[in-house]
Amino acid sequence: MSKVIVVGSINYDILSTMRRAPRAGETVNGDTVQLMPGGKGLNQAVAAAQQGLEVHFVGRVGQDMFGDRILSFFKDKGIAATHVGRSPDEATGSALILVEATGENRIVVIPAANRQIVPADADGLPIRAGDLLVSQFEVPRDTIATLFARARAAGARTLLNAAPALDDAPPGLWADTDILVVNETELGHFAGVELAGDATEAAIADAARRLFRRAGQTVIATLGVRGALAVTADAHVLVPGRKVAAIDTTGAGDCFVGSLAARLAAGDDMRDALRYANVAASIACTRIGTGTAMPTATEVLAAM
Ligand code: ATP
Repeated sequence: MSKVIVVGSINYDILSTMRRAPRAGETVNGDTVQLMPGGKGLNQAVAAAQQGLEVHFVGRVGQDMFGDRILSFFKDKGIAATHVGRSPDEATGSALILVEATGENRIVVIPAANRQIVPADADGLPIRAGDLLVSQFEVPRDTIATLFARARAAGARTLLNAAPALDDAPPGLWADTDILVVNETELGHFAGVELAGDATEAAIADAARRLFRRAGQTVIATLGVRGALAVTADAHVLVPGRKVAAIDTTGAGDCFVGSLAARLAAGDDMRDALRYANVAASIACTRIGTGTAMPTATEVLAAM
């Protein structure tokens, strides 16, 4: 059976709500604090595992309490963590999230151990034809490039969620990416074009085609409430957004990527996998949180 391998970031999220965030030099009392596993890689792995696929994680935590918690979280979620290393000299990645009563937020991400992920961390993990390797830009780019080249040589497919947008990416990495998933901001950034919020399908497809480096690649632009547009060299297909009462869209992109990866690894064609991921991500928008908002396969199928 094919598997999903996520080479990804792990952060411990510390989310605190308060009437208003402190100014420089000021201390305020907050209202609530929540600690939960997060990071793009971890969220995407959870979304994929909830669809019933075999999911392996390649990443790093520190030798601290957060690292212990992450490893037991992976166990609970059925995500194989044999290739999650423990850095001797870096803490587990974390994100400090301050949310004001107005909903305005301020976020500080401390990558810590995520910075140390190297290709050797995946040594001993068999990558086979039919497997799907997934990564995001919270992992060192050179590591992604090396592992994507290794995966393609083994006949596996590669899916890159090019988020967050970076100044540049190693040239070889674009060519070794089979499926690139970006939101509109990331697409505009990497394609070097200004995309208005109401950009037409044709304009988005044109921008996406600037990212192709070889035949057979697919660029998927996620468009929030408008759904997602899949672009190949000679066609583009829009999967319209599903109408839901969205209350928290954080993690919708990660849910989309993880669910898409799961269905592609399960053997769906691109159109079916996209429809599925679009429904899964819409459900995540109706729930608060990220990892906790990812729907199960039963929930997605019931909504389709
Ligand atoms: P985030 O950073 O908030 O996780 P993103 O910017 O990476 O999200 P989006 O394009 O906003 O990604 O959303 C990803 C997918 O989630 C969309 O393609 C769509 O399928 C679904 N989605 C997002 N917002 C909504 C919404 N309001 N209603 C229905 N579906 C939505």
